[in-house]
Amino acid sequence: MTQESDRRIKIAVQKSGRLTEHSLDLLVRCGLLYSRGRDQLICYGENMPVDVLLMRDDDIPGLVQEGVCDLGFVGRNIVEERRLALLAEHTPVEFEQIVTLGFGHCRLSFGVPETMDFADIRSLEGMRIATTYPAIVADFLRREELAATLVKFSGAVEIAPSLGKADVICDLVSSGSTMRAHHLREVATILDSEAVLIARPAAERTQHAWIERLLQRLQGVLQVKESKYIMLHAPRSALPRIAQLLPGSEAPTIIPLEGREDRVAVHAVCRENVFWETLEQLKEVGASSMLVLPVEKMLF
Ligand code: ATP
Ligand code: MG
Repeated sequence: MTQESDRRIKIAVQKSGRLTEHSLDLLVRCGLLYSRGRDQLICYGENMPVDVLLMRDDDIPGLVQEGVCDLGFVGRNIVEERRLALLAEHTPVEFEQIVTLGFGHCRLSFGVPETMDFADIRSLEGMRIATTYPAIVADFLRREELAATLVKFSGAVEIAPSLGKADVICDLVSSGSTMRAHHLREVATILDSEAVLIARPAAERTQHAWIERLLQRLQGVLQVKESKYIMLHAPRSALPRIAQLLPGSEAPTIIPLEGREDRVAVHAVCRENVFWETLEQLKEVGASSMLVLPVEKMLF
């Protein structure tokens, strides 16, 4: 019998779309080497017991729910839609969002024809709303105690009003240009979204060492993106002020300088980017010889 720890991990990633490149890039930065053939739906990990399944993004929460995949990279909008749909049919939800990934930002908003009088969300009462996110919109309407008709679309929602299929839409927006191009006005946001990592519930997840290992590396990779290593010389007396100015640094290393009682070298990892303004402020309190370096890897 194969042990749980010998099993290969399966990770679902969008096959081709807005999230694909960033998701695969994160896995590569976690150290995964994989081979991907043309039109191949599975990438086999060469140096870890990890395989990547390339799927439609809508199917990803379902794959984790059914236990086909251990982890999935997908937009919060899709996760939330599936979660609410499962709850509505009284099915236990067997996935949870464990990390936010910092890309794929967008929002789910109502859009109304430019010519429509729209005071506030109460104006939605009695309207026909076209959307690909019926569970999220239904949940919103219920909480706001609004009665409206949902018209389900699987794509191209923005053309529903001009086709006479709906009065308003509820759809994903990032820049807002698609709505504008269809003479729609964005009037209210009901969900802010970005790409997230979902996993099986915690009790199951921790049974596989490689899942934990991958998650730890992922935390490191996400942290590293913004992190900088900063080195500078400063008067010993300015250390408290310098610690305040260094963004997101904890416990900087203080090193004595040969022949200088009053000045020390300070080395610190900053968990946020270090901007010119910060360097100028550090200079004002007496810092000199400042170097800011990118951080390649981190493990906590
Ligand atoms: P699939 O074929 O996988 O079903 P799709 O057409 O549904 O692809 P994409 O358009 O690639 O999906 O969007 C994937 C995800 O990217 C969305 O679910 C959302 O989380 C995010 N996203 C970011 N910006 C936008 C945007 N302007 N419009 C739509 N989705 C966006
Ligand atoms: Mg989709």
